[in-house]
Amino acid sequence: MRGVDILSKKRHGEALSKEEINFFIEGFVNGSIPDYQASALLMAICCNGMDSWETVDLTQAMVNSGERVDLSRISGTKVDKHSTGGVGDTTTLIAAPLVAACGVPVAKMSGRGLGHTGGTLDKLESIPGFKTNLSMDEFINAVESIGLAVIGQSKNLVPADKLLYELRDVTGTVDSIPLIASSIMSKKIASGSDAIVLDVKVGSGAFMRSVNDSFLLADAMVKIGVRAGRNTMAVITDMDQPLGMAIGNALEVKEAIEVLKNIRYGPLRDVSVYLAAHMLRTAKACKTLEEGLNLISEALESGRGLTKLGEMIQRQGGDRAVLDDCSLLPTAKHVLPVKADTDGYITNIDTEKIGLSSLITGAGRSRKEDTIDPAAGLVMHKRLGDQVHKGDILAEFHVNQPDLFEEASQVFRSGIDIRKTKPKQRSLIKGIVDKHGIQKFDSENII
Ligand code: URA
Ligand code: CA
Repeated sequence: MRGVDILSKKRHGEALSKEEINFFIEGFVNGSIPDYQASALLMAICCNGMDSWETVDLTQAMVNSGERVDLSRISGTKVDKHSTGGVGDTTTLIAAPLVAACGVPVAKMSGRGLGHTGGTLDKLESIPGFKTNLSMDEFINAVESIGLAVIGQSKNLVPADKLLYELRDVTGTVDSIPLIASSIMSKKIASGSDAIVLDVKVGSGAFMRSVNDSFLLADAMVKIGVRAGRNTMAVITDMDQPLGMAIGNALEVKEAIEVLKNIRYGPLRDVSVYLAAHMLRTAKACKTLEEGLNLISEALESGRGLTKLGEMIQRQGGDRAVLDDCSLLPTAKHVLPVKADTDGYITNIDTEKIGLSSLITGAGRSRKEDTIDPAAGLVMHKRLGDQVHKGDILAEFHVNQPDLFEEASQVFRSGIDIRKTKPKQRSLIKGIVDKHGIQKFDSENII
């Protein structure tokens, strides 16, 4: 076999065999297939796509490029969740402790912020002392004893994805359903959980801008998971505005704690509860979604979810006292408001711009090697559809370097439209995809 024949075949729109895919991925990882051939194949995949069997074979070849985490020492059905990336999207810090509090173990490997989106690891590391670099033994022991741990992805997990992602990033080939699906699912499968719940975001702050594409991505990922023997389902959720009000690492931790304390309501709480209920169901800890929702609501309202988050923080070296006193989290020196310059309704939010404005304050990275400011970010005061009057506070920026505020607030303003007519309400949950297929919800919020 030759690399050039395989990439030419894909360029002509033909389906690749499992042997061809294995040959190419193995060769790319061991260096016998050069970057320029891999780039050409990626471009051909972007242009001509892959059928669902090719996507499954690509994912499996990527999984085979590295280590797999063995969670078999932990008894019970282990469940994982994954979000395709959003802004103010702090669901893991809420859903994972709630699920663990219901007796289903969560052994989660999370990522860092990517572009305008936040990452769970960066958020957790804003808790003083919190360690995300546990050894595999420490990680498994933690899940065995308290049912929950969240760490960074181990270096040897899916090396093919790391190499491919670096090429995709510089060759304009990130944006492809089979490539995104195989990238995400190879890491989920290698990290060893039995059940997987995917939160596929759609809207102005997500990878997927159209509802139709988000269902196609969800369907591709669910098929990969199911064929790999993992009980997998996906929820398609709105990212046409930040999910929570806080954007930035310590600010989002504080908001998640407030949800678990039952002093904060709204879409972040609703989506977290909904995902957590599906995690219970996917792990077969309940029969129906309704039963899952009841179990999760009870764990939330009784404070057992908050206690579980505290156990995890303590176990991973963090200061559990942050639960009682959020001022122990890093706080910024300056809190500066952005005010409305006209009357009307918030009719549109460019969520990517809101995420970028937070990144500019220091809450995210422009380059991989940048360090982040855990205290920086912003808190929205208004949501889509809210009425505003000239002079009302739209958001407050938390900054340590006041000179960053000017640019950040300009980018923020450019992402908010204020018009005279009240917009229609949008639904938070667009539908679900599981092994039985796609189920689109027709419109209004179902939670
Ligand atoms: N997240 C990933 O891990 N991979 C992609 O390709 C896109 C988002
Ligand atoms: Ca949030």
